[in-house]
Amino acid sequence: MAERNVRVRFAPSPTGPLHIGGVRTALYNYLFARQHGGKLIFRIEDTDSNRFVPGAEEYILDSFEWLGIKFDEGVSFGGEHGPYRQSERRDIYKKYVNQLLDAGKAYIAFDTPEELDAKRKEIENFQYDAHTRLQMRNSLTMSKEEVESLIEDGQQYVVRFKIEPGEEVHINDMIRGDVCIKTDILDDKVLFKSADELPTYHLANIVDDHLMEISHVIRGEEWLPSAPLHVLLYRAFGWEDSMPRFAHLPLLLKPEGKGKLSKRDGDRLGFPVFPLEWHDPKTGEISSGYRESGYFPEAVVNFLALLGWNPGTEQELFSLEELVNAFDITKCSKSGAKFDYQKGMWFNHEYILRKSDDEIAQLFAPIVANNGVEATMEQVTQVVHMMKDRVSFVKELWELCSFFFIAPTSYDEKTVKKRWKEYSAQQMSELAEVLDGIEDFSIEGQEPVVMKWVEDKGYKLGDIMNAFRLTLVGIGKGPGMFDISAFLGKEETLKRMRKAIEVLG
Ligand code: GLU
Repeated sequence: MAERNVRVRFAPSPTGPLHIGGVRTALYNYLFARQHGGKLIFRIEDTDSNRFVPGAEEYILDSFEWLGIKFDEGVSFGGEHGPYRQSERRDIYKKYVNQLLDAGKAYIAFDTPEELDAKRKEIENFQYDAHTRLQMRNSLTMSKEEVESLIEDGQQYVVRFKIEPGEEVHINDMIRGDVCIKTDILDDKVLFKSADELPTYHLANIVDDHLMEISHVIRGEEWLPSAPLHVLLYRAFGWEDSMPRFAHLPLLLKPEGKGKLSKRDGDRLGFPVFPLEWHDPKTGEISSGYRESGYFPEAVVNFLALLGWNPGTEQELFSLEELVNAFDITKCSKSGAKFDYQKGMWFNHEYILRKSDDEIAQLFAPIVANNGVEATMEQVTQVVHMMKDRVSFVKELWELCSFFFIAPTSYDEKTVKKRWKEYSAQQMSELAEVLDGIEDFSIEGQEPVVMKWVEDKGYKLGDIMNAFRLTLVGIGKGPGMFDISAFLGKEETLKRMRKAIEVLG
């Protein structure tokens, strides 16, 4: 059989912000499509009008735009298989529901919620299926005339899929291998509801996958229980030959490893579970996003790609291009992937290191300006160069680096106690004089002169450097001393030293 054109889809329901697990699903679909020269389709599954949340669709699109995950067809992208929003495809579904009804593979059921409740009370573990359907109010137990007159009277009904027991359904999952289910355990799923004239998820999903010529269904593990039903629907329509291959991805687990990752885990441990910040239109609640928290989209993509898949080598850092080449859906793990958010921070740190100083400086400059400091781009870049290896996020730079731009107004008590000896004022006055005599105030210009002076005097290098640092920075930490003094320049260096000598005495 000839290989099919690869066509995959990401098909979210617009019920709120896109969860990070959904982002990973979309990413894996993207990688799979790209590496097979296929197409990625964006479909909106909005047949459950009760759960519709305004703004969610736009949010999802903005998220992928930010992450650099591109679609080939779908809502807002166009294409030959549209419309791609399920709420705009009602007539299509109606036709296919009728096809199943005409073929006797589905039936109309009038049971009200109250009647179904009563049945559940009467029969333990009641399930609407081959054993019970003939006790219910449906087109299998009523005459044709009766059914028609009820519909004419405006009675609400659902269409149920007639599942025959005694069969086996095999799902040949690309990750899980052969998954076999007996039809006896399945119930006659609702495919369509007259109340809103809309199909349920199952029917719309199958009809669309077929009409949109989807070759592979790559989705979260939570959909695995639906897969047998989906296979049966393909069969009922006579579409076996075009049935997609399935791949059900492992769950994302809590950082501790037990149970499914939830928004509450993020709130509890302080990490986002959404790509972008989300403002809930109903409650006004704001949930943090990876973008607003200062993550680079490349870092998020890299981090997510390795949650549930690994290349089988030591390599951890991958560009999107490299992921396209290395990714292998069949090598995804079957068991859940712990959401190690600290690893996500590590990835961001690695991307900071790999980006040019100029690029990071562009991001840091507005923060410097917001703190009321006027600095040249060159100065900001110099500071970034010295300090970027110490942070995971650009916004962390200010706290670490403010001393470059603002002279200390106080001196850390603990450091003073430990580092400022009775002879420090004297030594710093001498050092100030030595520095004053240096023409070339670069690192290379200062270092040998100061070192020689320390040696000649027989001072302890540690004493000098610790006190020197305290005078310039006000605390006991920071980059190399001559990095700092060279950046500040002679005038500012001496000014800070004299002030500290005066204050600390
Ligand atoms: N609408 C489903 C979701 O929200 C799609 C599941 C599937 O991919 O079949 O995830």
